[in-house]
Amino acid sequence: MQIWIGLTNKELTSLDHRSVTIKSRSGQLRLLDKPGGALVHSFDGPITVYVFDGKLKISDKGRPIVGLSSESAIFIAAQSEPILVADLCRAGGQDSVDAAYLGTLRIAVRSQDKLGLSLFCPIETYMRGVLESEMPASYHPEALKCQAVAARTYALNPRIDHGPDKVSVCDSYLCCQYFSGLNKHIDPRIEDAIQKTSLKILTYQQKPILALFSACAGGVTEDFQNCFSDPISNAFPPAPIAYLKSVFEGQFAQDPPLSHEALIRYLYSRDAEDKTFSADAWNAKFRFKHVFTANQLEGQMHFQIEKLRRIKDNAPFIVAPASNAFGLIKKFEPLKRSAAGTLIELGIHTSKGTWIIKKELVIRSVFANPQARIKRLPSAKIFFEHRMDLNGLLAELSVMGTGSGHGVGLQQIGAHGHAKNGLKYEAILRHYYPGATLSSL
Ligand SMILES: [Zn+2]
Repeated sequence: MQIWIGLTNKELTSLDHRSVTIKSRSGQLRLLDKPGGALVHSFDGPITVYVFDGKLKISDKGRPIVGLSSESAIFIAAQSEPILVADLCRAGGQDSVDAAYLGTLRIAVRSQDKLGLSLFCPIETYMRGVLESEMPASYHPEALKCQAVAARTYALNPRIDHGPDKVSVCDSYLCCQYFSGLNKHIDPRIEDAIQKTSLKILTYQQKPILALFSACAGGVTEDFQNCFSDPISNAFPPAPIAYLKSVFEGQFAQDPPLSHEALIRYLYSRDAEDKTFSADAWNAKFRFKHVFTANQLEGQMHFQIEKLRRIKDNAPFIVAPASNAFGLIKKFEPLKRSAAGTLIELGIHTSKGTWIIKKELVIRSVFANPQARIKRLPSAKIFFEHRMDLNGLLAELSVMGTGSGHGVGLQQIGAHGHAKNGLKYEAILRHYYPGATLSSL
């Protein structure tokens, strides 16, 4: 099975490119009429492709090649060696190293002056450029197999629909999952996990599932509808997804003692020396505590909220008070939580009224604070403790919580824990995606 992968720009933020320079180690490049199709032209050096007036133009060593321009797309391959793309910066941030890909490149017109770049290659080749970016090779072999199946499945059904881009998935971790190409030496443990799960994916009702994953659930995973918007309408909450539902990571699964905030307080305050009560408790990401001074919050939070409001997708999740002003911060109040404890609605009481922040990622992002060295909170499974000064004003806020990431679907740290406890990858996947079936492509 072969898939199309959209290659984003150097910053991994957009599928639009101004121009692209392509080469190969031998110098040979082939222009084909379609992937695996007939040879139209061959080049013996680097070529640059750009869009002028809505048409693709090719130049060979600086000389435009007349007669090869196209209003739609061209296909470039190299003879059994990687195609090198200059300036994509996919080799661990080294600008000077060209990105390397095995397969056929499609270069297509996207607008009057922008082109799109995508790679057509076997899904197992894609996997070799994905898996190590998503999970350390040192993780348990059964956990690596779980990640391989989840990553392979994700490529066939990402959360963002890339249909309009004519690709299955893109290569950016900001949108889909990171695909670095084939510059690096691939760890044998990674190769092994890919081979031992070759062409295996998870399906539900005969279709690839939405295989969401994150780092650490902090004792309990989360329902899809408590964290994500509908991918098409952006409505929140979206319809639930049967196989993306909350499960406990530990022994207490049989007898969930508590729910909502009490559950998070219970998980957070378990003995830090006891690494066994939950499959993810072995890792330091299981719990966190951040302390903000009132000055740090006052100095940053209203700017951060304004910044988030300017992003179209976030705007509906930030509700301003009637004053539309951000006053002196008085108190943080959890307004709504999921049963698994994730904060879904946060009230920030200020002297100018109460701001309401909705959705876990937006809530986590509101706490971005360079002074406190925080990019965003690790998770939204949080609770607060306020310390007031002698005048009754906020002096310090402690934010405590468990987990890292959204907590929906496969949890990497938990998968490693379950594997160490003796579970095979099939059983671990059944735990995280209940009701999904392990199928072969
Ligand atoms: Zn994407």
